[in-house]
Amino acid sequence: MPLDQIKTLYVMSPFRTESAGSIMYRCAKCAKLQQVPKSCGNRHCLICQGGKAKDWLEGQGSRLLPCACFMITFTGTESDAMEQHVFQLLI
Ligand SMILES: [Zn+2]
Repeated sequence: MPLDQIKTLYVMSPFRTESAGSIMYRCAKCAKLQQVPKSCGNRHCLICQGGKAKDWLEGQGSRLLPCACFMITFTGTESDAMEQHVFQLLI
């Protein structure tokens, strides 16, 4: 596993556990209490950022042309020549 992924997991690991603590919410209507574990807020965390990702995806969907289309995302560490090669394969 790459070092940056290990660092990210290390930063997120204490959250949503008893050691990180929790937040107590009270419903304004019924006064019911709900205890929620503290979140990490890390951009890589699916729990913390899942709602934002869903909102972003729905926002992008409203910008699509009214035709069949698809999106491919890839990340490479190779040169621009490799990127151009991949684009040629896709066309
Ligand atoms: Zn999180």
